[in-house]
Amino acid sequence: MPYSLNTERRLREQICHIGELMHRFQYIDATSGNISARLDHDRILATPSGLAKGFMKPDELIVVDMEGKKVGPATAANRDLKPTSEILMHLEAFKQRPDVMGVVHAHPPTAIAMSIAGISFQQCTIPEAIVVLGLVPTTPYSTPSSAENRDAISQLIVMHDAIMLAYHGSLTVGPDVWTAYMRLETLEHTAKILYMVHQLGGGPALPPEQVQKLLDLRKQLGLSRPGDDERYCENCGLCHPSGVHIYQQAPTPAEIESKIRERVSAMVRETLGK
Ligand SMILES: [Zn+2]
Repeated sequence: MPYSLNTERRLREQICHIGELMHRFQYIDATSGNISARLDHDRILATPSGLAKGFMKPDELIVVDMEGKKVGPATAANRDLKPTSEILMHLEAFKQRPDVMGVVHAHPPTAIAMSIAGISFQQCTIPEAIVVLGLVPTTPYSTPSSAENRDAISQLIVMHDAIMLAYHGSLTVGPDVWTAYMRLETLEHTAKILYMVHQLGGGPALPPEQVQKLLDLRKQLGLSRPGDDERYCENCGLCHPSGVHIYQQAPTPAEIESKIRERVSAMVRETLGK
């Protein structure tokens, strides 16, 4: 599939818009947070280091290869800008998940406060979170802007679309960068509700038969991740049909590569069709 400037232009504008929203809704502060989108099988469009993500211009975004090295023609606006130090975490998500076309890292305050207070997100209480996010894991603490964050999410990213990095922030991914952002909104909104429930003295989880209906809906919508049955069994008392906990095998690099090519072709076709 040929390289599409249309696709890149659209993604540049969309990422700037998402940055504005993240700043407006206080999911980030100052120069924190970063956003990226897959351009093709070996190039990622990403927000650069050091910019306030709420006030970016499309030409300031940079393109990196799968090792995080800046590539492609520089613009006057991005010539001196460098890749974000969190790019390794984004690349890990793109490398392991052929279905992922967009990645968002933010510092949502309520969700971070919950991770510091040691309150688990793996609760079966908010219907939308059960359907859209699944059970969100929290990684052990790892130093922000270091390779430690990549390592912290490495074992989890195949099984989750939303992950909390303890004391630090969130990572959400999606089949497009807008969906990755929407999952951040759902994550922080869920955290706010759980925080209020905690303040009010706590409340009961949904009964397993109600959680089962939501999990069925999650499957119907194509949102399931490997290990869902096992996690909901362990955390919400749902007995899944086989009763055996077998975690799905990760795909081979060749399978990942072919799925990435399919996804990029579909994205380019969609852009050209509009
Ligand atoms: Zn961060």
